[in-house]
Amino acid sequence: MVEPKCPECGAVGIEHIVAQDSKEQSDTKDPHFNVAYCNKCGHIYGVFAKVVNRQTSPIW
Ligand SMILES: [Zn+2]
Repeated sequence: MVEPKCPECGAVGIEHIVAQDSKEQSDTKDPHFNVAYCNKCGHIYGVFAKVVNRQTSPIW
């Protein structure tokens, strides 16, 4: 099992990676993204698209 390690501050462990909804950023038009970052130094690991289960309405 490999633990994730922050390249900035060296924090090891997935508990140091937190994800935050990016909808609070006013200039982001699409709110369906999460920002994953280190909770010790704030290094951003990446931005991930949320999985949105949007069912298409059936056409009867
Ligand atoms: Zn860090």
